[in-house]
Amino acid sequence: MNDRAGSSRGRDARRSPPVTRRPLTRALPLAALLLAGFVFGCSGSVVRSQLPDPAQMLDEGSWYAREAWPHDGHPIESEHFAVYSDGAGMEARARLASLAEDVYAEVVDEMGVDPAAMFRFPPDQEKIDLYANRYNVLEGGGARGYYAGAIIWSFDNESGQGNMSVPAVRVALKHELVHVVEALLKGRYVGDIAVDDPRRMPVWFSEGTAEAMSGGSALGAPRTLDQMNALVSRYGRINPISWRVDLPPSDAVLDAYAGYYYPMAQLAIEYLLDPSGLGRSPKDLAAVMLDIGNDVPFEVAFEAHTGIAEADYEEQFFGLMDGYLPQSEPPLEAIAVGLAVLLGAALMAGTVVVSYRRWPAAIPRSEAGGSGWSRLSRIGFRAEIAASAVGAAGFTGLLVVQIAFSDLAPYAPRLRGYLLAALYLIVSGTTLTWAIRRWAAEERVAYLIPLLVVVATITAIVAVGVMF
Ligand SMILES: [Zn+2]
Repeated sequence: MNDRAGSSRGRDARRSPPVTRRPLTRALPLAALLLAGFVFGCSGSVVRSQLPDPAQMLDEGSWYAREAWPHDGHPIESEHFAVYSDGAGMEARARLASLAEDVYAEVVDEMGVDPAAMFRFPPDQEKIDLYANRYNVLEGGGARGYYAGAIIWSFDNESGQGNMSVPAVRVALKHELVHVVEALLKGRYVGDIAVDDPRRMPVWFSEGTAEAMSGGSALGAPRTLDQMNALVSRYGRINPISWRVDLPPSDAVLDAYAGYYYPMAQLAIEYLLDPSGLGRSPKDLAAVMLDIGNDVPFEVAFEAHTGIAEADYEEQFFGLMDGYLPQSEPPLEAIAVGLAVLLGAALMAGTVVVSYRRWPAAIPRSEAGGSGWSRLSRIGFRAEIAASAVGAAGFTGLLVVQIAFSDLAPYAPRLRGYLLAALYLIVSGTTLTWAIRRWAAEERVAYLIPLLVVVATITAIVAVGVMF
């Protein structure tokens, strides 16, 4: 983190944790690569956009407090935002501005903030700057919020960093806009205040609030004691309330941030907000931020608006969680997934058996008066159908299990993934049924039809890659 304690830059530019590579896409890379190679090899129209002409770029912007990135001189403005970029398309900027307006309205409403009365913008700014980076890359990935601005990847980003699906951008944007609201309520960077100054807001509160409000841009807060203990045994029993300043950046820290610090800080804030915790509201969190802007020490503001002293919360944290989190959840998800996989396999087997009975490929054609298929070709055909059916059912099962049990972000479109698996099974079953029927009609093309299952499988792999 460049904004860690004591750094000379010392700006309050909070980050979202890096986007980690998901196991789901790792499971299916080869086929996707093959297909990608095929698509790019066949298509002459796939052209990467041109980098903007450096001579046209303007060397200025509020984000220079973070990154010295010029912009292309064509910002677009919406009611509350000015969207700058290093070359994002106008449509991509408009999409980001429109999403930002949505998210902004949500944050302001949930935190009970009155922007006209409470926000203190820098003197030269009236709107929140968004830098939509298309080519530039933030060190460590993710997005950044700062005083009256945020840096986030554009919807047409070409750096390969950042998930461009709307749910992923929305969560990252909300996380950063919570930081922006925090900075506007305080009316300054945190870095203008020394680390040991009592008015400095601790990182756990800032990141925990951004994670709790956005639903979690990392892996989300642990939901059971078993889950929390698993995190503790992996990363150590680190008290989230003791996370007051950013840690010096390293690969290990980035991993611990995404896997432990952000989820545990989210849990710490969620406990404050939950009616079965301390029952406070995001309005109380905003009140803490506003107090800090009026030079009230954080400890004083925190206790006044949450009803617990920060030092007591730190001391009692794990004890409070013992009483708050349930021990574990019944393995309902595992049972449901197991049943779904069994049902899928049974459906596929049933489809094949029923269609054999209906269009009996088993009858030797010579006996049935046809032109006659040899015994060997019948065996070959049946083996092909059986292998395709087992493969399709197995792939469906693998897909469902991966979606259910991979470390996906809370916003990952799991439901759409399950629907895709169901659709894939239906398409495969229909294809094999059709092949058997073709066989009954004595058409050699029947042999080729099961290959469509391979096409369906590759299509499903690509769809999963896009989705997650
Ligand atoms: Zn953050």
